[in-house]
Amino acid sequence: MSLTSLPKLNLRSLILALAVFSVLITLGNSFYATYKVQHALLINNTLEANRVYAAKLAEMTDAFLKSAQDQLAYSASLLGSQMHNKSALMDEVRRLNQQSDSFNSVVIVDANAVIVATSPETLQVKGFTLSSPGAQQSIDAKKPLITDPFISPAGNYIISLSHPIFNDNGHYLGYIAGTIYLQQDNILGSILGKHYYQDGSYLYVVDRHKTLIYHPDAHRIGQRVANNLAIDEVTAGTEHSHTAINSRGIEMLAGFAPVTRSGWGVVAQRPQQATLAGLDGHIINVFIKSMPLVLFTLAGIWLSATFISLPLWQLAKGARLMDKKEIQQSISGIPSWYFEAAQLKRAILKGMGLLNDKISQLHNDSHTDAMTGLLNRRGMQQVLDEYREERQPFAIITLDIDHFKRVNDTHGHDIGDKVIQALARLMRDHARKGDALCRSGGEEFMIFLPGLDLTLALDIAERLRLQVAGFEMPTAGFITISLGIAHWPGPALTINEALKQADKALYLAKQQGRNRSLITESV
Ligand code: GH3
Ligand code: MG
Ligand code: MG
Repeated sequence: MSLTSLPKLNLRSLILALAVFSVLITLGNSFYATYKVQHALLINNTLEANRVYAAKLAEMTDAFLKSAQDQLAYSASLLGSQMHNKSALMDEVRRLNQQSDSFNSVVIVDANAVIVATSPETLQVKGFTLSSPGAQQSIDAKKPLITDPFISPAGNYIISLSHPIFNDNGHYLGYIAGTIYLQQDNILGSILGKHYYQDGSYLYVVDRHKTLIYHPDAHRIGQRVANNLAIDEVTAGTEHSHTAINSRGIEMLAGFAPVTRSGWGVVAQRPQQATLAGLDGHIINVFIKSMPLVLFTLAGIWLSATFISLPLWQLAKGARLMDKKEIQQSISGIPSWYFEAAQLKRAILKGMGLLNDKISQLHNDSHTDAMTGLLNRRGMQQVLDEYREERQPFAIITLDIDHFKRVNDTHGHDIGDKVIQALARLMRDHARKGDALCRSGGEEFMIFLPGLDLTLALDIAERLRLQVAGFEMPTAGFITISLGIAHWPGPALTINEALKQADKALYLAKQQGRNRSLITESV
């Protein structure tokens, strides 16, 4: 299909297309922007919430560690003078273990790394000489210590908080330690809670060597975590939040904070997918809520497009039928309420006025004889057609100047013309309104008198003849005319017949000596 054979777009369709296109682009853009903003907001809010949460729990863990160390310090101060009193040692470990939930077990170890008292006693490790790195750490340190995780002689995976025991002379006697069983219910679980939500959020704690010491999945406790940015940062002492990929390859929003006292790190995290789960629904909601306004706007655009394009459309339609006279009226009635339409309407009306004037001038020219201003043969034919259509009876006078050749011969052709023009003027002066006067040839004329019968027509012919005979023509002097009269009564006779009768009467008038009016005998 070639371009020219495509249907032409109209202004309304163009305005509509443009406006709808703009609305859709704007809508799409605002949905996209809303989506992006909400996306960023959800992620940032979750990151920040996780950071604050991790910081709060780190602070609580720190407070617990301090309180636990204070308890151990107090016991150590009591035990400085009691190291040889076995029952006092037993009483103290029992008291410390039962007084609070801080520790899973409490032990007292002497300077030779031999366990001298335990609670609970079921541990069966009394008298056991410790060789684990954790125990050695405490003995070597000779100061309050939080150990790294290690396997206890009873086979538990533990962390121990220890405090050295000195006698009054400052001599090192051993230490008292509270332990936390990492793979069983312990104080950390009470502080940190069982944070394992359905949406996949959870919390874990690593020690300063990046070993998991608290995790909802107990199997993972004791594992060292490498290549985790959040853990790297938190063990370096940074409190912050960012996205991280967990061990199962899930993208997480992690907030983390260090426990200063122990060098541990608390990490709270939530899957990014769970955070964004509601976003699509939210955007669909926005879409549904904005639909009524969008539809209302589109309807408004449709109405506006119609309203704006209507005057131009009407003008264009009018312009196509510009040659029809009645269109001028309907164009005048088009409400052109804005500048361009008003100017176009003015221009079209002006153009139509000029066109119509020109057409009627051309029409007149083609129906009029230039020399006399009377109707020519074409004009005459039109008049006769009208009479025939309206069945309008009329009388015919056909007239011819007598011996006109002589006028021409004697005075020249120009004077002859002047005589013809003067006769036409006399005819016009003589005519009634509604009579049709025409120059049917050289110096021959016809007068059509609607509604007149033969008698009245003969009267008029006679009056004209006498007036011409009494009128002195410029230079040429007096002339006479001969006239033939006939009548068309209606469709009973053809108009041609009637014209022939008039010609015949004229012919007879000439034959009978000229300067007379005659009606054909046959009528
Ligand atoms: P008749 O009485 O029989 O009518 O005699 P006539 O001389 O008038 O004869 P006829 O009507 O046959 O001749 C008409 C003449 O009119 C012939 C022509 O030279 C002259 N004529 C026709 N048209 C014009 C015109 O427009 N101007 C002039 N000056 N003469 C014309
Ligand atoms: Mg003639
Ligand atoms: Mg003549």
